[in-house]
Amino acid sequence: MLPPEIISKITTLPPPIEADGADERGWPGDCMGRFTISNTYKLVCGYHELERDAIWKRIWRLEVPERIRCFIWRLRYGRIPTNKVCNRRGYGTPYCDNCVGEEETVIHAIRDCPLAHNTWKNLVPIKYRLEFFTYNYHVWFQRNMESDESLEWGIGWRVIWATTCFIFGYGGIKINLILSL
Ligand SMILES: [Zn+2]
Repeated sequence: MLPPEIISKITTLPPPIEADGADERGWPGDCMGRFTISNTYKLVCGYHELERDAIWKRIWRLEVPERIRCFIWRLRYGRIPTNKVCNRRGYGTPYCDNCVGEEETVIHAIRDCPLAHNTWKNLVPIKYRLEFFTYNYHVWFQRNMESDESLEWGIGWRVIWATTCFIFGYGGIKINLILSL
């Protein structure tokens, strides 16, 4: 019999969807599948597992509805069917529906698209804004999930961050989701 934690990890693995396309090669030492010397070093030393487990626990302890936790888990691995991903699979254009000439990547849909950007500007305290908008995707995800800050009205930053990501994730990609059904 497998330990409950392993069973819960297996049952929450997102099933494949058509928009994910065919299987691709990926490096297991990096959440985006990229090979680097530093992530290989972490993998060999076991640091990678520690980091992955810590993020895993933080995601599944988030005090948000289950579907937001599942969404954040997919976001962690960049498994969001943005226009750019769908275009690579043969659907539509790679561009954002709201911006001229901007490809809809995950970070664009969730953080950088003007509507999302203006919302984040109202949520993120001034002292964190520069880093919030300039981190690359992986660091951005990591830093927000590791934050233990609470906003002045007493809600944990991680809850606000995850919920806002979910709103922009599903708002921006709803057409792609319909196409992928
Ligand atoms: Zn946009």
